[in-house]
Amino acid sequence: MLKIENLHVSVAGKPILKGLSLTVNAGEVHAIMGPNGAGKSTLGNVLAGRDGYEVTDGTVEYLGRNLLELEPEARAAEGVFLAFQYPVEIPGVNNTYFLKAALNAQRKHRGEPELDAMQFLKLVREKLRVLHISDELLHRAVNEGFSGGEKKRNEIFQMALLEPRLAVLDETDSGLDIDALKMVAEGVNHMRSAERAFVVVTHYQRLLDYIVPDYVHVLADGRIVESGDKNLALKLEEHGYAWLRDRQLPQA
Ligand code: ADP
Ligand code: MG
Ligand code: MG
Repeated sequence: MLKIENLHVSVAGKPILKGLSLTVNAGEVHAIMGPNGAGKSTLGNVLAGRDGYEVTDGTVEYLGRNLLELEPEARAAEGVFLAFQYPVEIPGVNNTYFLKAALNAQRKHRGEPELDAMQFLKLVREKLRVLHISDELLHRAVNEGFSGGEKKRNEIFQMALLEPRLAVLDETDSGLDIDALKMVAEGVNHMRSAERAFVVVTHYQRLLDYIVPDYVHVLADGRIVESGDKNLALKLEEHGYAWLRDRQLPQA
């Protein structure tokens, strides 16, 4: 589904990703961990097609196509969902209106008929029900004054509505309580399927108690330096990242 090879990315002329390679197949959940400043969020931003991230080398293939050539809107329409570490607030724009516009933009791009108000409401009710969340956030402006947990809930709800094929979640390093983590995990677990893949960026092992990943990767200094299964996350929790840094040094 996603094949990243030798990706080099600079931000403001400074190399951040330095030869990152990662392959994600349908049905898999990959966790990306790593020290602060390693480039985890940069990876998410590049996949989303955000401005200011210059790809200087390497390739990103998504469902056999060059992802880097697609506009951000086209990526979303093709089923790529990016949940951001710091979601934007859009004061004055009703959240329901925003979600409906996002969903219909996706449908339009795919040549599917747009949903009318009734159809959208029906879909919203169904998603709220399966995710066990209340409709309270829908009546407010997009992310305005949302707590960390509310932003997460909204993000997961947005993901459930858009039904992505590839979801990339960049989790905050702090500030989320255990209930918010569980809610994110429940949303992801509910949506896990053979046709869908997840890349979950997380600083802490704790989230992975609830989302059990198929693969865990360590991103350090702009590259994947170690890959393993869920046990790698436990090892990182116990020993930190220092042992990986040591391993990269030439043996004396
Ligand atoms: P992580 O998510 O792993 O903590 P980031 O991808 O956020 O790491 O950042 C990697 C490096 O890129 C850091 O040194 C950070 O300062 C730098 N960086 C990220 N985004 C920008 C930006 N927009 N402008 C300048 N430097 C940036
Ligand atoms: Mg960070
Ligand atoms: Mg980050």
